[in-house]
Amino acid sequence: MDLLLNPEINFCSCGCEARLIKNALRAQKSGKKRFNYWIECLDDSCGNKGGAEGQSWKAILNWNSSENSDFPDSIEIPFLSLIGLNQEEIVAKISGLESELNSKANKSYKSGRPLPQKAYIELKAQLAWLDYAKAWYKNHFDCAEVFTTDTRNKQANEPNDAVTPQSN
Ligand SMILES: [Zn+2]
Repeated sequence: MDLLLNPEINFCSCGCEARLIKNALRAQKSGKKRFNYWIECLDDSCGNKGGAEGQSWKAILNWNSSENSDFPDSIEIPFLSLIGLNQEEIVAKISGLESELNSKANKSYKSGRPLPQKAYIELKAQLAWLDYAKAWYKNHFDCAEVFTTDTRNKQANEPNDAVTPQSN
C-alpha cells in the first residue's frame, strides 16, 4: 500500500494505540454511499479523538499532527527524505517543497485547468503530510513556529481549497 494515502497512525499521547473509525453517512439522494473517518484512542477512559474527515488519510494525518499524537523519534515522509539534515536544512526543505506545491495548486487554479483527480488528491495529501512534518518538527525540537507559512491559518483568498478536481 502506498504510504502517501495510507499513513501509519501515531500512538495516542496517553501511550495507548489509536485506531481509524469508518462511519457510514446517511445515503445521499444519488444513493451513493459516503463515509467519514476519524481516529480515536483504544483506551475508553482516555477519550482522545480526532476530527472527522472525508478521507482516511486526512483523518490520520490530522491526528498525527495534533496534540493527541505521540510523535515518533524519526519521521518517514513518503516523498521527502530528511535523513542527515540539520534543523535549518529540514526547515528549508519542508518550506521549499510546500511553496512549490502551493504554487502548483495556484497555477492550476488560475489557469482554469483543474488537475486530474488523482494528481489533485496526491497534491492535497502531500500538503497534509508537510503539515504533519511541521508539527513533528516543532515537537521533536521543542521549538515555536519556524515555518514561514502555516497552512492552518491561511488567508481566505488563497485558492488552495478552491482547486476542484476533474470529475473523470
Ligand atoms: Zn489515549
